[in-house]
Amino acid sequence: MELVLSLLLLLLSRTSGALPGHFWHLTDLHLDPNYTVSSDPLQVCPSAGSQPVLNAGKWGDYLCDSPWILINSSVYAMKNILPDPDFILWTGDDTPHVADEKLGEDAVLSIIEKLTTLIKEVFPDTKVYSALGNHDFHPKNQIPAANNSIYRKIAQLWDPWLNVESIAPFERGAFYSEHLVNKTQGGRVIVLNTNLYYKNNNQTTNMEDPGGQFKWLEDELASAATKGEKVYIVGHIPPGMFEKKRGTPWFQEHFNKRYLDIIQKHHGIIAAQFFGHHHTDTFRMIYNTAGSPISALFIAPGVTPWKTTLPGVQNGANNPGIRVFDYDRNTLQVKDMVTYYLNLTYSNKDAPRWEKEYRLTEAFKVPDGSTKSMQMVLDKIATDKCYLQKYYEYNSVSYDLVDCDKNCRADHVCAIREVDFTTYESCIIQESSSVSLAMQMPFRLSVDMLLYISIAYVIFFL
Ligand SMILES: [Zn+2]
Ligand SMILES: [Zn+2]
Repeated sequence: MELVLSLLLLLLSRTSGALPGHFWHLTDLHLDPNYTVSSDPLQVCPSAGSQPVLNAGKWGDYLCDSPWILINSSVYAMKNILPDPDFILWTGDDTPHVADEKLGEDAVLSIIEKLTTLIKEVFPDTKVYSALGNHDFHPKNQIPAANNSIYRKIAQLWDPWLNVESIAPFERGAFYSEHLVNKTQGGRVIVLNTNLYYKNNNQTTNMEDPGGQFKWLEDELASAATKGEKVYIVGHIPPGMFEKKRGTPWFQEHFNKRYLDIIQKHHGIIAAQFFGHHHTDTFRMIYNTAGSPISALFIAPGVTPWKTTLPGVQNGANNPGIRVFDYDRNTLQVKDMVTYYLNLTYSNKDAPRWEKEYRLTEAFKVPDGSTKSMQMVLDKIATDKCYLQKYYEYNSVSYDLVDCDKNCRADHVCAIREVDFTTYESCIIQESSSVSLAMQMPFRLSVDMLLYISIAYVIFFL
């Protein structure tokens, strides 16, 4: 009888379609352990460098990395909003933006340990898929393609989260692949160490396939395909360009190409990709050779509000953000995405408040977070000034509310659409040289106007 009931339930779940599940994506916490609310503007936080921090508040400052209280509050906000997620994606960068000499290996490891302990304490029973960031090493960015003491120590810290079989691969190259822990069969999470492809990483400059990660990724994807699994790819540094500074890639070009080739070859089983590093809220689209969208890559905003010092970026700070994904446990398709944030100015003036910033399907009027729907989001941003502005404000987690002009539009639209460096350059040239007709007259408006003109014609002339 029990067997019949179980079979009936299974059948019902299959026929009713989606099995809804939820997970968190948390990234770029960047703890500044020395943050203090000081009246001396040069003593607030080492992460501000030589910039004076005026009127620093308890919850942090846009010139600084996160004080402990902000990080603590973000993880407890996750617990309040969604206490029992299927799992958590944590995509790295734990330490402050300060010179290597001010940190050292012990300080880097102790910060990683502190944040790991916090997440374990708040979510003791939740599986965490954790990726290494370019700041989670000493010296920063110089992430090696082979076994080393830092990888071994981090593997120990993450031991309760890693499967036994993942320990050795993690110690070798800080990447691993696991069967997805959720309520159904047939899902896989592949956690990459894309810091190996970073252009600022001198350890891997002349390598063809650092750590053998590309070959391993291809093998993992091929094996997942034979098992009928769907895959989430998770990492810290994404491929493609930074949307806030024209012509700024992260990967070396040959690594970017190889990554794209692999996604194009195996896209059929890749349900979505999740990255951090930008501190901004954006996404990337990948296409096949015929120009059809085949994969969407979600870049989550950081918890640190730190204003980037990258030359050429205007006002590059953000409000702290955290994000929940709704997904289908059967297919791993992204159904929706809700970003929560803390308005730092308000919190310092009054009281800390984590609130909903936006829900993807509501804000962009799309049915879900599938690749097809994310292409619709891109089309709306590219052709409708209202959607562009909305996207732009979310990009900095409602921090930078200035008008996104023609140049800004080109930077964002080309970065989202063109992950390949060469096609990105062509897109920038094309978009910068001509104001698109669609932007002058949004399509929806032009259709409406045509309708009104036709009605007027019928009324007055017929
Ligand atoms: Zn970061
Ligand atoms: Zn980073």
